[in-house]
Amino acid sequence: MSADVTILGIESSCDDTAAAVVQRANGIGQVMSSRVFGQTDLHSDFGGVVPEIAARAHAEKLDHCIELALRDADARLCGMDAIAVTCGPGLIGGVVAGVMMAKGLSAASGLPLYGINHLAGHALTPRLTDNLGFPYLMLLISGGHCQFLIVEAADRFRRLGGTIDDAPGEAFDKVARLIGLPQPGGPSIEAAARSGDPMRFALPRPLLDRPGCDMSFSGLKTAALRARDAILQEEDGLTEKDQSDLAASFQRAVADVLAEKSRRALAEFQTTTGTTGAFCVAGGVAANQGIRSALQDIADAAAARFVAPPLTLCTDNAAMIAWAGIEQMALRAPDGLTLSARPRMPLDTVSQSMLGSGKKGAKA
Ligand code: AMP
Ligand code: MG
Repeated sequence: MSADVTILGIESSCDDTAAAVVQRANGIGQVMSSRVFGQTDLHSDFGGVVPEIAARAHAEKLDHCIELALRDADARLCGMDAIAVTCGPGLIGGVVAGVMMAKGLSAASGLPLYGINHLAGHALTPRLTDNLGFPYLMLLISGGHCQFLIVEAADRFRRLGGTIDDAPGEAFDKVARLIGLPQPGGPSIEAAARSGDPMRFALPRPLLDRPGCDMSFSGLKTAALRARDAILQEEDGLTEKDQSDLAASFQRAVADVLAEKSRRALAEFQTTTGTTGAFCVAGGVAANQGIRSALQDIADAAAARFVAPPLTLCTDNAAMIAWAGIEQMALRAPDGLTLSARPRMPLDTVSQSMLGSGKKGAKA
């Protein structure tokens, strides 16, 4: 049985400033504290996360956030065994803010420093929440990421496929803006879709005609734009019914794509690993009940266990970074003060990179 450890985690890769204290005792992980300062208000006028504003807000909030996380856990920095910080992928100004803060704390306290891949944090969360054994299949669907990963070990991930352009959360946010719903788009589309007709607009299911697990959401967004413009040629503006029908049609299209690609990824996972295994989801889009239940059905049909961590640990947080630090401590030496921040940082360094295959290129 591994020794008990307590780690301070720091996360600042996008628009959430987060710090957490996580302990592993008798092999079981426990979140002692987890603080997240979101930045939605700061970015809401701009229709997306503004990197410079995000970086500045992280730099302003990080020390306070860390102090609160330590206080909530009734702990002190000197009582930690190590510091874990997100070192990529993400918006570089924010990642640098977190890494510099962690280096400062490490230099002052003498604690070992571990740079953690943000995606590894998400991918390892089911081991913190559900004590899941390796291997398992993870679908990460968020505002910036979309990929299927076979999690083979705490430092070994194999990507089966991912988006070639936008992340699904990004598509939810953009479509919400197109049809006049508030940001963040995911929750407002889900709410509007409840009273909508998902069959009214025949939106495409991109890349279903191609084998494999890669996905595309940018064309779906353009199709939603065309459907909106067709209505605007007939009417002065969108009615509430138009909005909810568009929202429902879009959400159903995303759910259909994710479900079919998950079915394929799970079949590939089960064939390659020779196990029934577990299918896990993480990321903000996994909050969507329609999508969640479509994915649960896929897992049930393949007799796989379905694991969706609680929402606070599904979206960006620092507890997952601390936990990944605990897992990786046993496998490698600390990074030390030469650790660098990286905007792009694929988890799977063996499979072919997806970089450049889409409009902006997937970040990882
Ligand atoms: P994250 O990138 O993990 O911080 O999650 C944020 C993203 O998740 C944003 O793009 C949101 O629009 C999206 N999101 C949050 N809640 C929902 C929901 N209920 N349905 C779909 N997308 C959602
Ligand atoms: Mg976020």
